Amino acid sequence: MKCVLVTGGSRGIGRAVCLKMASLGYYVLVNYRGNLQAAEETLAMIRETGGDGELMPFDVQNKEMVKTVLGGWIEANKEKYIEVLVNNAGIKDDTLMMWMKDEQWENVRSTSLDGFFYVTREVLSAMLIRKSGRIVNIVSLSGLKGMAGQVNYSAAKAGVIGATKALAQEIGKRGITVNAVAPGFIHTDMTEGLNEKELKAMIPVQRFGRPDEVAHAVAFLASPDSGYITGVVLSVNGGLYT
Ligand code: NAP
Repeated sequence: MKCVLVTGGSRGIGRAVCLKMASLGYYVLVNYRGNLQAAEETLAMIRETGGDGELMPFDVQNKEMVKTVLGGWIEANKEKYIEVLVNNAGIKDDTLMMWMKDEQWENVRSTSLDGFFYVTREVLSAMLIRKSGRIVNIVSLSGLKGMAGQVNYSAAKAGVIGATKALAQEIGKRGITVNAVAPGFIHTDMTEGLNEKELKAMIPVQRFGRPDEVAHAVAFLASPDSGYITGVVLSVNGGLYT
């Protein structure tokens, strides 16, 4: 059975990716950190549309938990195979660098960058053995151009972009592709409270994006037909920056 693991699948972009991949016939492993209700809603939506999957709660920052929960699932489910990994879990905690506390730096970095490392390492060996797989990392416009007030977030996402390019070179010969999707401003809990009216004036298409528009890009890179695309960063930002 072909499976997709979506970290941070309970809400926002991750939920849209879960639904998209379910519509393509994947069994969806919906990871989340603490929001059980939202994760259950995602799973119910998957099932309503004829798909299937299961919840897989763990904190991507916690390497022991990743090993126990994800590693344990892999060990116990030999008939299922994680063909696609979407590293989507991420947080922001914005402030100017001079006011930034250690925890703000560490948590934001650790969720995106350490999370990428712990989760991908766990899934990689089965992909290497099978000589196939797709890894898609959700990064950000901030990781490409840098954003004032987001030194922590920009650094974390830029780190994942570097890791994407390096890993793509390591494992291309094994039939595994590694790419990144860099959203601009997308309507989710993360962008709630931003001044949309002011910001959208800067965006060539004059609006924020929708989570399903990011999911579309993820599905494209995750497709079996995308085997010759690796190490790229695909922007989904309404033309804001490329
Ligand atoms: P969101 O609505 O705030 O959802 C965040 C998701 O990540 C939730 O499912 C959350 O789980 C999960 N999560 C957070 N920390 C986690 C951890 N330590 N372990 C496991 N799961 C964790 O965010 P979003 O806007 O959909 O963002 C998704 C990704 O896109 C992030 O990587 C973000 O940086 C990136 N991005 C977003 C935008 C945007 O405009 N929205 C733009 C560029 C990039 P719980 O529900 O359990 O809390």
